[in-house]
Amino acid sequence: MTSAIRTQVGIIGGGPSGLLLSQLLHLRGIDNVVLEKHAREYVLGRIRAGVLEHGFAELMREAQAGERMDREGQIHEGFFIAHEGGQERIDLHALTGGKTVMVYGQTELTRDLYEARDRLGGKVIHNAEGVQLHEIDSAHPSLTYRQGSETRRIDCDFIVGCDGFHGVSRQSIPKEKIQTFEKIFPFGWLGVLSRTPPVSSELIYANHERGFALCSLRSSALSRYYIQVPLSDTVEEWSDERFFDELKHRLPAEVASSMVTGPSIEKSIAPLRSFVVEPMRYGNLFLAGDAAHIVPPTGARGLNTAGSDIYYLYHALVDHYSSGDDRGLESYSSRALGRVWKGQRFSWWMTKLLHRFPDDSPYDRRLQQTDLAYLFSSQRALASLAENYVGLPF
Ligand SMILES: Cc1cc2nc3c(=O)[nH]c(=O)nc-3n(C[C@H](O)[C@H](O)[C@H](O)COP(=O)(O)OP(=O)(O)OC[C@H]3O[C@@H](n4cnc5c(N)ncnc54)[C@H](O)[C@@H]3O)c2cc1C
Repeated sequence: MTSAIRTQVGIIGGGPSGLLLSQLLHLRGIDNVVLEKHAREYVLGRIRAGVLEHGFAELMREAQAGERMDREGQIHEGFFIAHEGGQERIDLHALTGGKTVMVYGQTELTRDLYEARDRLGGKVIHNAEGVQLHEIDSAHPSLTYRQGSETRRIDCDFIVGCDGFHGVSRQSIPKEKIQTFEKIFPFGWLGVLSRTPPVSSELIYANHERGFALCSLRSSALSRYYIQVPLSDTVEEWSDERFFDELKHRLPAEVASSMVTGPSIEKSIAPLRSFVVEPMRYGNLFLAGDAAHIVPPTGARGLNTAGSDIYYLYHALVDHYSSGDDRGLESYSSRALGRVWKGQRFSWWMTKLLHRFPDDSPYDRRLQQTDLAYLFSSQRALASLAENYVGLPF
């Protein structure tokens, strides 16, 4: 049996992109429904991004979901790059004329967005199974999904695919209508979350002959550490002791000696991949966030680029409903992709600068050393890194 409801915008995916768009549209009087495949606890169990650029933080505030972020998030004015046994600071604040980033975990941010949706009585449907998109190239697209034994239908004006890399939205576009660009990296990041004070109050990205390492954090009591590992490694092969031994090897001695270690409360391996689909629109289906593009986490662009998609789409939909102006919808894909590719370029550059690639020749290694030497010898090169890291303008 099929029951049907009508809304203006049907959103697939209750991750940060879908929830943020849903909340922003609701506040502007645009009716929408979010379909999320998993239970809320499952979505909130995923440990992912942690560095928010200024524009993303502003969107959270506009969505009336930024209060806890502003209270508990940490403003970072710089970070370190460790190499050749020492470390050098990138002064984001000075290099960008006062810009900074906010360190606040994606898990917390997603929780805040769910709570904001609850406060407004937002429609977020969890455990929506078998979501399918219908007539996306028509003026009357619809969605169907199963809940228990019942199949339900949502009729809408627009569908927004915010369902991540493995979602159904992108796969619903005929293959000949899109082009995909992809690069798979020959290593992954082994990440550990531990309830210990972070070794540094600012992030440390380390280039070391044994591989990349990153000291990050979620709060003053919660550390997030990563090391580059071969794709063939499994989490089971990495006891906490082995992980921290390897991490310390890859850090300057004075950093390693001051590190407080403790049992991991989460440990996972994330493969590194770059991916973009063009265009980000087909008919009345718009793709946003990881559904359309992903980057390796070096450079912290993933969630932030999802944020810029939402910014463009939100304003385009507001213009459509408030004044019938469709220029934003027409230009959404090209505007979003312009910024997406800059994020891809920066993430690729940071990844290449800081990792050991298995097939690197001595020549490649010298180039990498020269890239680092040039970076720290040129204020202009540092300023370019800084302006990308804090986020290019929307
Ligand atoms: C392991 C990992 C670590 C990461 N670390 C970082 C980092 O350190 N820094 C950084 O900037 N970025 C990082 N990222 C990237 C960042 O987390 C993503 O860019 C961000 O989550 C994108 O948000 P999204 O809402 O577009 O997609 P997602 O967060 O993937 O959300 C998509 C949602 O859609 C739902 N969904 C999927 N399929 C369906 C369907 N068929 N029907 C209904 N719902 C569906 C999913 O359950 C999910 O809740 C990481 C990503 C991963 C996977």
